[in-house]
Amino acid sequence: MKKVSILGSTGSIGTQSLEVCEKHGFKVVAVSAHSSVDMLEEQARKFKPKYVGIYNKNKYSEMKSRLADTDIKVLCGMDGLCEIASLDENDIVLNSVVGMVGLLPTLVAINAGKDIALANKETLVAGGELVMSLAKKNGVRIYPVDSEHSAIFQCLQGNKREQLNKIILTASGGPFYGYSYEQLKNVTKADALHHPNWNMGNKITIDSATLMNKGLEFIEAKWLFDLKPEQIEIVVHRQSVIHSAVEYKDFAVIAQLGVPDMKIPIQYALLYPERLECPTKPLSLTDYGTLTFAKPDYDTFKCLNSAIKAISLGGAYPCLVNSANEEAVKAFLNDEIQFIQIGEIVSSVLDKFKFTTISGYDDVMKSDREAREYVRNIIS
Ligand code: MG
Repeated sequence: MKKVSILGSTGSIGTQSLEVCEKHGFKVVAVSAHSSVDMLEEQARKFKPKYVGIYNKNKYSEMKSRLADTDIKVLCGMDGLCEIASLDENDIVLNSVVGMVGLLPTLVAINAGKDIALANKETLVAGGELVMSLAKKNGVRIYPVDSEHSAIFQCLQGNKREQLNKIILTASGGPFYGYSYEQLKNVTKADALHHPNWNMGNKITIDSATLMNKGLEFIEAKWLFDLKPEQIEIVVHRQSVIHSAVEYKDFAVIAQLGVPDMKIPIQYALLYPERLECPTKPLSLTDYGTLTFAKPDYDTFKCLNSAIKAISLGGAYPCLVNSANEEAVKAFLNDEIQFIQIGEIVSSVLDKFKFTTISGYDDVMKSDREAREYVRNIIS
């Protein structure tokens, strides 16, 4: 029986991960969340983990009293997340927290020699070099949970890595596919929160609408699969049936298809290399009939362009654009800025900041702080 700890268990990926754990009888060692005490209590009573983590320190005493009649140990804050990430009992740590907060627990889990199922893309965007070199040194495997990266990982099985030409990263295009820059000026928060194919958390849904999500995934792919930026092609595929593809030297292209349901990539990361029945629907290609492909509009969707430029420039730029985006999305969700401003803010980072290198965790956090301060100053 596989033993799993889940960071971010009350979010969209977290709850679907628990469904997968339940289906296959995995032992859930720990669950943790930012501040959703109700759902965390429910999960704790159902899965009987040894530990429950609550990130928001103001909710710690409430969480403790809710579980006072159990033997479950309640942990709190970043220390709690890190303790969960490094528990001896873990076979694998599923990291699905939102944003930069996920970086330190990832590093701690790698240092403890724990394999990681990674759904927190900001971890690789901000600290890609750090995370990948540490994982290599510690012999830790990072299994992608993002559907596109899981698809690529699946397409790489059984073939020689050095015979790979490139990867084809598919993008749904989001709710504003085909919009002009002028049209983007008038979109509302409700429009942006309505994704055509995927049901996800708010942050990633906004990132999908700005196409920042695809930019972050571009950077994530570069680190996960050790690629040059020119080996990554983004193709808009509106139906989200082909989750990504790879091209080999002989120009054979291998793609992974399935219904748009995150439980498939979650399960592959947790069960690798096994393939067992997944709690989802099978794909019926004839239900779709037509699959379409197009080039993304890099001029209109400035976030996508900025993320690709950032990874091509290297150094702290990927971290800076990621943190600026997090802060801008937060401001948009708080009705402080317009949708169109997210892209303007993110792209301005590349001009405002001079090139700096990242040589450790402290450098990442320094860039993170600077980018957030920069965005807060623009907004206020
Ligand atoms: Mg994705």
